[in-house]
Amino acid sequence: MKSSYSRINSYGFCPKKYEYRYVLGIPAPVKPELAFGVSIHETLEHNFIQKIDSRKDLPVGDLALFFRTTLDGRLSVVPEEYLRGPSDPHYLRALGEHFLDRFMQDRAPSLQPAVRGVECSFRLPLPNDHELTGQFDLLDTEWVLHDFKTSNKPYDPKRADRMQLVIYSWACERMFGRVPSALCFDVFVKGDGAEGEAGLQAPILFPAPTAADMGTVAQRLAGLLDRLGEAETRHDFPRSFDPPRCHWCEYQPRCQKEWELEGQPRPRKISLGSLQN
Ligand code: SF4
Repeated sequence: MKSSYSRINSYGFCPKKYEYRYVLGIPAPVKPELAFGVSIHETLEHNFIQKIDSRKDLPVGDLALFFRTTLDGRLSVVPEEYLRGPSDPHYLRALGEHFLDRFMQDRAPSLQPAVRGVECSFRLPLPNDHELTGQFDLLDTEWVLHDFKTSNKPYDPKRADRMQLVIYSWACERMFGRVPSALCFDVFVKGDGAEGEAGLQAPILFPAPTAADMGTVAQRLAGLLDRLGEAETRHDFPRSFDPPRCHWCEYQPRCQKEWELEGQPRPRKISLGSLQN
């Protein structure tokens, strides 16, 4: 089975969402949060790709313009009713420009991307004929692998997804011949009102996993993909939540309509941990 880690995670989050997205291939309306996060990523990528050769960052004003154009293009397909409050386009533009300004002053000057080190797509062979695909954001010339994240709240390093860290390290080793010296999450915190300010969190660094970690994770991933294949065969896609509460989900209107037609079945959570047993 060919899969990505985000696809596997999506089943652990809500199997019904997994079904809509990956089994039925139903396109979801773009939400402003996604448009914002992707636009920040694309703007940083735009800077770092040219920096491989130029060894200089682009002026912040150029990047702000690139960001605005990218964001406006992505928001143009977002349904009007989603563009309110903290998702108002004017607010998102100002927030993104603030993030970029901070990042380009505080972080970018010390980051020199490695050759082929920007937006690296990878494929990892797994036991049982499975394959995992994915992408990491940046490998710098100090061999630090960076993942850019936009988040509502500050990121808690204690809750880091170890499996994701191992996958990135392993991908780095396959692509560049060695594991990274460290992994770094660069987190843009949007703030959710109650939790305080929007801003750039201090870099969160993790040591690179060991070769033994990689072997363990490869086995776990192959086991998960076996179970996912079985779930697909059984057509086992329960809802993890009551749809009226899932305001963040792109499929909520469709899911809620179907849920009501099906007599409002109770939600049933399936954790990824339970799939491995
Ligand atoms: S609306 Fe809720 S239950 Fe339905 S697919 Fe989305 S996350 Fe799952």
